[in-house]
Amino acid sequence: MNREATVTYIKQHGILPESKFGQNFLCDETVIASIIESAGIRPGDRVLEIGPGIGALTRELTKLEISLVCVEIDKRLAGLLRDDQEIDAEVIDQDYLKLKDYGAETFDVVISNLPYYVMTDIMKKIFAECVNAGKMVYMVEEDALERITASPRTKQYGPLSVLCSIYGTVSVVTKVPGTCFVPAPRTTSAVICLDPAGNKISRELVLFVDRCFAMRRKKLKASLKCYDTETVDKAYEAQGFTDNVRAEELEPEAFLRLYNDIINAKSQRGTL
Ligand code: SAM
Repeated sequence: MNREATVTYIKQHGILPESKFGQNFLCDETVIASIIESAGIRPGDRVLEIGPGIGALTRELTKLEISLVCVEIDKRLAGLLRDDQEIDAEVIDQDYLKLKDYGAETFDVVISNLPYYVMTDIMKKIFAECVNAGKMVYMVEEDALERITASPRTKQYGPLSVLCSIYGTVSVVTKVPGTCFVPAPRTTSAVICLDPAGNKISRELVLFVDRCFAMRRKKLKASLKCYDTETVDKAYEAQGFTDNVRAEELEPEAFLRLYNDIINAKSQRGTL
């Protein structure tokens, strides 16, 4: 959908874009094409789109021979998509953050022009649940991109940087100015593509990484008090960490190793 088609659609259906839902509709066909292309979708893939809005990406996805599931919080927009002859998708009208039993592990690809106000939580839920996704393509705000690609010992470094790095590689497909959306946000966005490196992310790992950063100014050990002290001490020893180490100093892989040490020790003792 180009700008003219987007504006016409919005007017025709009396849509007032809801800022509370982060509704900035993408209206640049080149950017839409680059998102679809970078997703590397193959015939037969199961694709999950979060926040289809008025269908800028959905209309292109539906042209592929795939099984497409869309989750849209705005019931009115979801209804319009469902009634749209051009669109062949299962449309779920719910808050993705509350969604359960949607076959998360069956999706091959996840795509979203992410609603910025819940971007981090949505990405974490996808990491925790869509555990077999072989590709994730997102539109994110530039400041979110900084958090995603941040290195240890920087202010932006946090759970999202760690989880994205554990998942695999993050590449920037293109930068997207505000003028490519209706209405135009003040900020610049970026399309990013996440390719897996083979590490399995689970709900428990996401929780673990979140916990590690819960008190980022304190020593990491303070955040690990909910785990057995002896197990944590052994894991520290195995990793060569001093008691003073802080979460923001650790490389992403260190969180994975620490998690494995703590959780594996737990399961060997039969406490999982
Ligand atoms: N995909 C469309 C596009 O590219 O033009 C719309 C993108 S717009 C930035 C974000 C969309 O996510 C909106 O349609 C909004 O209603 C929807 N949304 C916001 N919060 C959501 C949530 N928690 N669960 C599902 N959809 C949500």
